[in-house]
Amino acid sequence: MLSVQEAESILLKIVQPLVDREVTSLLTAQHRILASDITSTLDFPYWDNSAMDGYAVRYADIQGCHPEQPALLDIVAEVPAGTCPQFALAPGQAARIFTGAMMPRGADTVVMQENTERLEHQIQILHCPQPQAFVRPKGAYYQAGKSVLTKGMVLTPPDIAILATVQCTEIPVYRRPIVAILSTGNELIAPDQSLQPGQIVDSNRYALAALVKASGAEVRLLELVGDQPDDLKIAIKQAINSADVVISSGGVSVGDYDYVEQVLAELQADILIRAVAVKPGKPLTVATLPGQHSDPPILYFGLPGNPVSALVSFWRFVQPALRKLSGQEQNWGPTFIAATSQHTLPAGGQRETYLWGHLGLKAGHYEFSVAGGSHSSGNLMNLAQTNGLAVLPINHPQVKAGETVQVMQVGVISPP
Ligand code: AMP
Ligand code: MG
Repeated sequence: MLSVQEAESILLKIVQPLVDREVTSLLTAQHRILASDITSTLDFPYWDNSAMDGYAVRYADIQGCHPEQPALLDIVAEVPAGTCPQFALAPGQAARIFTGAMMPRGADTVVMQENTERLEHQIQILHCPQPQAFVRPKGAYYQAGKSVLTKGMVLTPPDIAILATVQCTEIPVYRRPIVAILSTGNELIAPDQSLQPGQIVDSNRYALAALVKASGAEVRLLELVGDQPDDLKIAIKQAINSADVVISSGGVSVGDYDYVEQVLAELQADILIRAVAVKPGKPLTVATLPGQHSDPPILYFGLPGNPVSALVSFWRFVQPALRKLSGQEQNWGPTFIAATSQHTLPAGGQRETYLWGHLGLKAGHYEFSVAGGSHSSGNLMNLAQTNGLAVLPINHPQVKAGETVQVMQVGVISPP
């Protein structure tokens, strides 16, 4: 059986980023991954402009002035934001100017209006600022030709502000991976079907679809598949014809009705992982299947059917693979955070163990509260609001309340 780390490194080695690109707009760019470096032909600021409401002046005219000996200048013009001043300041002159407005030629300094006293057509400067005060010079924050955003970045709202500022409205991004999701099991019914004795409602397709969407990929939800190899083969074939990645849940253990591996072998899959020393989630099948024509191989994840196992397997193994496949250049793996455990956690056993719960930040310290109730892989009812999984390495001693534990972050951190 592979260790978690071995399985992760096998996986990341076989996943190669998708190279297909497309163009997206500023309103649809969030979470997309940049497919090339962005440079601009514009400087930023685009031109010298004022950082204050006040008066544009020539520093030489006001140097050394103070309240007892103010400088007196003629106001020759007003420059609102958005206009291009058509004059140059001569010695002894000032222009009324507003925040963001372009500096007139000849002016090199802005005096904030609070440090002035207005006469009818003149202005008294009471306090002398530093030379060039309150001027935002052209190119001070960014010079044309430099790289402003880098290929492989996951675009965030601040990045989108930058793209708009440099007038990049056709944003080159990688195509989103398409992920087909299927659930297998004779016992499964859809959530809106009437439940008969012995049946189980399929939750995995929906949880996995939400996770896939949150990771920026596109979902193709397939029908439920019973435990019949022929049906499973048809479903998997259909999935590989329409997706870059296939995620199934169920049917990967050693039971009589677990056919995923058999069907994958019949489809000429290269099976890379069969089981991982992890709890929950030991039976995990990872394989590649030949893609269509010259397309790259399709990546297949056969996750265990137990709902918690399926989710933990996604977080630990599928997510990093999707990140790499999507074109993200780094940080594919999970984020681990050292947190103080609020409860005593059992010793780790023969498999790396993940215990779900809540990761909070209180007064600058991370705290982990393990979910109450059973940590059975079939109990998903205490998964609500899970944002962290405490990791107990193999043979790790018991973690006492107040001791530190590594927590894998799987959601947004909120107060305890
Ligand atoms: P399996 O991995 O097929 O042996 O399934 C293990 C357990 O998970 C069984 O109790 C299944 O009923 C349950 N299970 C399998 N698939 C799903 C699913 N899609 N949603 C909820 N539970 C499932
Ligand atoms: Mg099953």
